[in-house]
Amino acid sequence: MADYILALDQGTTSSRAILFDRQGRIVGMAQQEFPQIYPRAGWVEHDPEAIWNTQRDCALQVLNQAGVAATNVAAIGITNQRETTVVWNRETGAPIHNAIVWQCRRTASICDDLRKQKFDRIIRRDTGLVTDAYFSGTKLAWLLDNVRGARKQAKAGNLAFGTIDTWLINRLSGGKAHVTDVSNASRTMLYNIRKERWEKAILDKLDIPDSVLPEVRSSSEVYAETDPGLFGAAIPIAGIAGDQQAALFGQACYKPGMMKNTYGTGCFLLMNTGEQATVSKTGLLTTVAWRAGEQTEYALEGSVFIAGAAVQWLRDGLGIIATAPETEGMATSVSDNHGVYFVPAFVGLGAPYWDQEARGAIVGLTRGATRAHIARAALEAMAYQTRDVVECMQKDSGIKAKELRVDGGATRNDFLCQFQADLLGIPVVRPVITETTALGAAYLAGLAVGFWKNRNEISRQWQVEKRFEPKMKKSERERLYQGWLEAVSRVKSN
Ligand code: ADP
Repeated sequence: MADYILALDQGTTSSRAILFDRQGRIVGMAQQEFPQIYPRAGWVEHDPEAIWNTQRDCALQVLNQAGVAATNVAAIGITNQRETTVVWNRETGAPIHNAIVWQCRRTASICDDLRKQKFDRIIRRDTGLVTDAYFSGTKLAWLLDNVRGARKQAKAGNLAFGTIDTWLINRLSGGKAHVTDVSNASRTMLYNIRKERWEKAILDKLDIPDSVLPEVRSSSEVYAETDPGLFGAAIPIAGIAGDQQAALFGQACYKPGMMKNTYGTGCFLLMNTGEQATVSKTGLLTTVAWRAGEQTEYALEGSVFIAGAAVQWLRDGLGIIATAPETEGMATSVSDNHGVYFVPAFVGLGAPYWDQEARGAIVGLTRGATRAHIARAALEAMAYQTRDVVECMQKDSGIKAKELRVDGGATRNDFLCQFQADLLGIPVVRPVITETTALGAAYLAGLAVGFWKNRNEISRQWQVEKRFEPKMKKSERERLYQGWLEAVSRVKSN
């Protein structure tokens, strides 16, 4: 049996390939950035060929560097930037247009129209999503409407639609496979997450012929083999999950109530809700976590728009720090927040406030406040916003979380992790392998080909690097959180 699993992690700014061994350790990694294309304000595109080329090159590079032959790779797992939309010609394999990236706002008015027609209720009920330009559905409709002849070609069965996983597998398989997994399908706004099928009512509404759609498969099974010419031998492609779902899997959050938070530019929180597709009353998204085995499992998802980005702003906007890591020493150099709260509502407020017009503020300033307090407040803001979302998840799911597993660049900051534990009153757990997204894709692929036996084996393998126990008194925790809620109330637009 082969010794390695290869994870392809196709992100928004770069493609990466990571090789894992049987213990789930990283053996090699390669990464390549590719260009961001901004044709107009608010529009974002990627060249699908650049995505494919960088992803293929990284895979080749990591195998070469590690001196691992394709025959020694048991399977490939794929994880990807979600929602980004590609349409290509089935015959030639050539894209008909650049990929429309998840961040792109060009279809906002289509979404406004859907809301006006109250169609957003149907979308909410069937897909678990809010009606937003973020998701693939209206991006696909836009391509069919705006690329000359596209809708006619689509109706004739000549075009294929895919999210990035689908696009990569099509190329990896030499044009043979046209598949996606349930986790990616659940982000298209076209997929009924309970009935587990493309939703005809939504397809009809957006005039999308079902001939363009990929086949939806589980997140852990052999979908295809790579073209033998690519890596020197055929490798089974055996795992797919969208990046956040892959991270939840890579954090071994396999039981209902287990959750992970990724602290990067923003925060992405997901809570496993088991076989229950929980309807949110607080504006969180309901999404498919994965299907790996008999049952489809679901998750609640909430995001914080500005997290680490507030620290970047201290560095690049205010210029009161030189590097992000130095905020840790600054934060611990003062004994408390001195009443200073930083609400980084630079682009409005997400769950549970949903206020697009809100803007940021630093409140509670007195003569005694220093830049250390402001740095501390920026770190604390990540934790407060995370608590806001965790409260929503607990309310929606009726599950009390026992711990929070964390990853992402900002979790290198011990002050942040400890403060997060204090503020939630539950342990915050940082794993040894923080490449949880790639690891999740590797696990899904490895399980499908018997490289790993089952999730128990993986759970045992998943290792804690550091566990932050809550130390703060409950009264203090609630007093601080109350201060945050008051600060938020001052920036709200209504
Ligand atoms: P992304 O994938 O969103 O680009 P990363 O996971 O690479 O983000 O994390 C980078 C973010 O984390 C940046 O916004 C940066 O300001 C923040 N960050 C990185 N290191 C630290 C640190 N030690 N303390 C606080 N914030 C940090």
